[in-house]
Amino acid sequence: MLGGDRFDVDPELVEARLDISRTTGHGYALRLRFDASLAGPCMRCLEPAVPEFHIDALEISQPGQGEELESPYIEHEILDLAAWTRDALALSLPEKLLCRADCAGLCAVCGADLNQAGPEHGHEPAPDSRWAKLSELRFD
Ligand SMILES: [Zn+2]
Ligand SMILES: [Zn+2]
Repeated sequence: MLGGDRFDVDPELVEARLDISRTTGHGYALRLRFDASLAGPCMRCLEPAVPEFHIDALEISQPGQGEELESPYIEHEILDLAAWTRDALALSLPEKLLCRADCAGLCAVCGADLNQAGPEHGHEPAPDSRWAKLSELRFD
């Protein structure tokens, strides 16, 4: 039997749903589903972000059918659910964690939060420093 105390996931961390079905030939098909949220600063605007992820992972363990059918999370019929949960979450994470998908980020000139400043926020184009030097030249 699969089982044992390693099934436990910290319920404060995630609430996971695990479905196990037997395949023909003494194998298992496992499906893990959970929602997880992370907390940290948005990578664009630095405001607190709590993005949520819905993870749905499948794992097949079919002993004796080649390495690709042997789950790295199952050893001697013990499932390492913590490792699987961690990896499944890591694989679902986007490259950037944002407060929301269309976060406007910070103004490159003054650092204002463009989510609050609005799209009309802008600056006069900075004078090109090469032309500024020219204007200092005197022809007398
Ligand atoms: Zn943001
Ligand atoms: Zn600005």
